[in-house]
Amino acid sequence: MRKLLIIVLTFSLIFAFSAVGLAQSYTVGTSAGFPPFEYVEDGEIVGFDIDLMKAIGEEMGFEVTFEDIAFDSLIPALKTGNIDIVAAGMTITEERENAVDFTNSYYSANQSIIVQEGSEKNISVLYGDHDISVQTGTTGDLWITENLADKGILTGEVKRYDTFVLCVSDLVNGNVDAVVLDSPVAQRYSETRNVKIVGNIITGENYGLAVDEGNTELLDTLNEGLRRIRESGRMQEIIAKHFE
Ligand code: GLN
Repeated sequence: MRKLLIIVLTFSLIFAFSAVGLAQSYTVGTSAGFPPFEYVEDGEIVGFDIDLMKAIGEEMGFEVTFEDIAFDSLIPALKTGNIDIVAAGMTITEERENAVDFTNSYYSANQSIIVQEGSEKNISVLYGDHDISVQTGTTGDLWITENLADKGILTGEVKRYDTFVLCVSDLVNGNVDAVVLDSPVAQRYSETRNVKIVGNIITGENYGLAVDEGNTELLDTLNEGLRRIRESGRMQEIIAKHFE
């Protein structure tokens, strides 16, 4: 009897330790040039999406590690299994929904046009022979390409970069006339760099976290996490921390 007890105890201990060792961990892909959602500060990736993922992880019992990759490589990285989740202020679009599954929306945005701070330029910078830079594969890139460049309304160059950091530097250095990007991010850049907003394009976008198509278990976990942190007031705290 005693022997049996020892055996049972030993097995339950082994089981308990392996359960701890196997604590679920997910790799979250992001593109850290998108303040205040994700950016690099003192060599560390920080921001709204980072705090959001950490909070959902704590709530639902998993750990997260972050990988900083080019925005247009996020969906391919999800498809090849190099990352498990995208948290990158990614807009839920029909085209992307053919490849990945999105959670319920957690933030809304439009597009904004920014120019150099001292410039006289206005929204007409989107017409004629002006050069505009965008981050490759973003909704800003798609909007400019489809509505202006392809139609010959914008005849200058559309310069595509891997990060908005490069787009904004190009603008500050006078190499392009304007940058088109998500409104909350344009707002933040206008507070931290020598650029200003001269107009908005009302696109009515909603951000979602993305998982590979068919990964329903993880999708449900993320949606439940979002629901709980909304209900507990933690979401409001994260919003206040990054936007107020
Ligand atoms: N919301 C935009 C998109 O999904 C931009 C996102 C980003 O640059 N991180 O395309």
